[in-house]
Amino acid sequence: MIHLNAKIPAGPIQDRWDAHKFRERLVNPSNKRKYKIIVVGTGLAGASAAASFGEMGYEVEAFTYNDSARRAHSIAAQGGINAAKNYPNDGDSIFRLFYDTVKGGDFRSRESNVFRLAQVANEIIDQCVAQGVPFAREYGGLLDNRSFGGAQVSRTFYARGQTGQQLLLGAYQALARQVHLGNVKLHTRSEMLEVVIKDGHAVGIVVRNLVTGEVTSHSAHAVVLGTGGYSNVFYLSTNAMNCNVTAAWRAYRKGALFANPCYTQIHPTCIPASDEFQSKLTLMSESLRNDGRIWVPIDPNETRPAGQIPEDERDYYLERIYPSFGNLAPRDVSSRAAMRMIDEGRGVGPLKNGVYLDFEDSIARLGKDVIEARYGNLFEMYERITDENPYEVPMRIYPAAHYTMGGLWVDYNLMTTVPGLYAIGEANFSDHGANRLGASALMQGLADGYFVIPYTIGDYLADYLNTQPVPVTDPVFKEVEQEVHERTQALLSVNGSRTVDDFHRQLGKIMLEECGMSRSRAGLEQAIVDIAALRDEFHKDVRVLGDNETVNQSLEKAGRVADFFELAELMCRDALDREESCGGHFRVEYQTEEGEAVRDDDNFANVSAWEWKGKQEPPEKHVEDLEFEYVKLATRSYK
Ligand SMILES: Cc1cc2nc3c(=O)[nH]c(=O)nc-3n(C[C@H](O)[C@H](O)[C@H](O)COP(=O)(O)OP(=O)(O)OC[C@H]3O[C@@H](n4cnc5c(N)ncnc54)[C@H](O)[C@@H]3O)c2cc1C
Repeated sequence: MIHLNAKIPAGPIQDRWDAHKFRERLVNPSNKRKYKIIVVGTGLAGASAAASFGEMGYEVEAFTYNDSARRAHSIAAQGGINAAKNYPNDGDSIFRLFYDTVKGGDFRSRESNVFRLAQVANEIIDQCVAQGVPFAREYGGLLDNRSFGGAQVSRTFYARGQTGQQLLLGAYQALARQVHLGNVKLHTRSEMLEVVIKDGHAVGIVVRNLVTGEVTSHSAHAVVLGTGGYSNVFYLSTNAMNCNVTAAWRAYRKGALFANPCYTQIHPTCIPASDEFQSKLTLMSESLRNDGRIWVPIDPNETRPAGQIPEDERDYYLERIYPSFGNLAPRDVSSRAAMRMIDEGRGVGPLKNGVYLDFEDSIARLGKDVIEARYGNLFEMYERITDENPYEVPMRIYPAAHYTMGGLWVDYNLMTTVPGLYAIGEANFSDHGANRLGASALMQGLADGYFVIPYTIGDYLADYLNTQPVPVTDPVFKEVEQEVHERTQALLSVNGSRTVDDFHRQLGKIMLEECGMSRSRAGLEQAIVDIAALRDEFHKDVRVLGDNETVNQSLEKAGRVADFFELAELMCRDALDREESCGGHFRVEYQTEEGEAVRDDDNFANVSAWEWKGKQEPPEKHVEDLEFEYVKLATRSYK
């Protein structure tokens, strides 16, 4: 086991990033065009990085499997993006944002990264405003803020319920400008299926054209993965249907360590599934908890419609259990509380699998117009999906897989354990520890892309001045292309009897039951056995229709689900190994009498980073020890 060194700069935390930027080697402006950088992913993280690299003068190639950079999953983000501007004058500061994030992550994140994140957050807002992102404004013209879970201040900037879309349009326009100028070459409908390593360094990627099936190699001085999260391992999640782990997983299999794979965020406010064949879940933004009150009937046998249940027969359980944060308790805490209510039989709706999110009081206090102005598009979306009017009856919500805090391990410079290979945005193991606070993913993705990696990548590149990238005719590229061809061919030739979706649904069920909102030793041990058996069956009996040479979604999915199987096993191993409860990782063996998480700081105040050891060997665990100098380790309380 190695103790990983994240190369955190020394000195007072508030000075570290500036001092680090000063000490890092630079590439002078006229030399930048001599370097080529590959960016995989054009979501908020990838698009902002590629646009920044292009603007700085590097030669960039950007790849996405989407048909337009604008279709990245980031576009779905609804609620907002955090920054410590303190516009509402309610006591916010960079230190408070840092503190809330470390505490919110249940003391399993790296202090120095989180502090840097809080520092650059304010610059993100300025950058986006300069790009024309239409953040909501108050009557006086200042940018408006609202509150998100785990914070007692209002620091979330938003654009109605479409914040991700507006931010992505900003990043996309910056990217499109660079494409137009010829600094960035954009490859759409191109799926990266391998990273190529030579002499221990990342030298390029192999991609498959999703329209023609053609497999090509691309080389560069450095490769940056901004390929998003892997919640779709659960089959049902709030993520876009195409989100997957393949890019990160392929990097893992080529030597990059995968950190904290078991940390998954289950978001408390999604529309409950209406039957077991549903293929997608929809998020109702956390911002709704600013004005909506969450409750269930006190009586498990209650059958009356919500409006007929009197006040004294309702349990506003978050307000009762966590009075100081109330309906804005963090996601992990709120999700588990909802699960407990449903387990007690007090769920609502036809399947009794939801809790109410009720706007009656807010509408009475503020008027329907105000609520409509704040959340109109979310209310409309809810009504279209459920055929219930949330202005008149409470919404029904339930927790669903939403965000993955795990991902490729990166050092302070966002470099993985493979030199020259970087991971940004949701694809890295991130700054959020065991639980991400709402509105902090957009902040992190844009911090990484606009404000961190543009500075840190130069230090690596400086060594390669006046060297050419490894040519794609090099045998190392040919070997990897061959691997890709063989994998594709193997999937097409199984010709079994079950669809890819059928396998994926079954895998998701195992994961939700055993590695979802709560986990146990026995359940995880059984899940590892079941996943391995199902994975073997998948490779013997999957039916992939069509061929390689045309658009073939069945083939695309098959490759992604094959990687999900391997990831799922690693998630369960990690969850089994982490014998404590923290944030989104709740082991039933480690809880208080009231059902709150019990951490084990003596043994687990660290990051677990797993190394692939081949198909026959179990992965090896390494750790990064976490130090808490500025936020003292304490039991998290939102009471
Ligand atoms: C419904 C919903 C609402 C959300 N709301 C908020 C919110 O209000 N505030 C907040 O802070 N966070 C929110 N989040 C989380 C946030 O949206 C994401 O964490 C964030 O957008 C991820 O950005 P990203 O750039 O890392 O990845 P993505 O936006 O997922 O982009 C990934 C990119 O990688 C590409 N890609 C992936 N694999 C490959 C491959 N193998 N080859 C080629 N290209 C590849 C994709 O094409 C895409 O361009 C929300 C999430 C969901 C699901």
